[in-house]
Amino acid sequence: MRKMKQFKCILTIVIVFCLFVVNDVHALCNDMFGLPPTGKLTQFEEIFTHLYKRYGSRGWWPLFSEDSQAPKYIPGNYGKKSENEQLEIIVGSILTQNTSWKNAETALVNLNTQKLLRIEELSKISEEELADVIRPSRFSKQKAKTIKGIVKFLENESLEALEQLSIPELRKKLLALYGIGNETADSIILYAFNGLSFVIDAYTKRIFSRVGLIEESISYTNLQNEITKNIPQNGALYNEYHALIVALAQDHCTKKPTCSLCPIKNLCTTGSCVPHF
Ligand code: SF4
Repeated sequence: MRKMKQFKCILTIVIVFCLFVVNDVHALCNDMFGLPPTGKLTQFEEIFTHLYKRYGSRGWWPLFSEDSQAPKYIPGNYGKKSENEQLEIIVGSILTQNTSWKNAETALVNLNTQKLLRIEELSKISEEELADVIRPSRFSKQKAKTIKGIVKFLENESLEALEQLSIPELRKKLLALYGIGNETADSIILYAFNGLSFVIDAYTKRIFSRVGLIEESISYTNLQNEITKNIPQNGALYNEYHALIVALAQDHCTKKPTCSLCPIKNLCTTGSCVPHF
């Protein structure tokens, strides 16, 4: 009987301690992402917290390092990027257009192995040769033209100078370049320049329309405004939120969703119709 009491006491202490640690973790996360306390979250913020709890930091944008042959995900890497890293992100965001990251990564590895991930080297190589190197990324001729275009642009406008521009100015300049649309421009601004530009893609539209927060026919700009007015203006949050949406769309919110295992099932009008197992 006494042993049972002792056991219960220890168990209570452990539970209290765990609750304390968990609350602390929540508080830390809320601080890092500028989120309000639980209970005061908007639906967009609540979805973020559920996704972050399930997947953690996604470590975007994956980058090459001295000890790796392929780009590596670095959790919590929200700081300023070096010029080489910025170029890597710019080229990567073009290579991943209309294809999987796996294909884009193979093309990036080719560029890195051939020591072409430098503005000077990309200026020297012909468009045809470049298309050959990046062939695994698909649409390689078009992407080679886009990369050559942006490299020419970067010869006249340094990365350092671009960093000083306001986000609307930088966005306007990027959108004026061949092959750069809203999604690529926002990826470059967010991940290469740490600018507050929320990235919208087909996954974002699919998930939030299934959740019931938006119409499926919403425009890029309206969806971007809808999300950003409902979350804090915080770079780390923008960085993780887009990456978490991609994780959810690839894991559960696929064309045929697997709602029963989805971390935001209870917040989703589509998923809440699916019975718990
Ligand atoms: S519950 Fe289903 S439809 Fe809703 S977000 Fe999750 S996977 Fe998508």
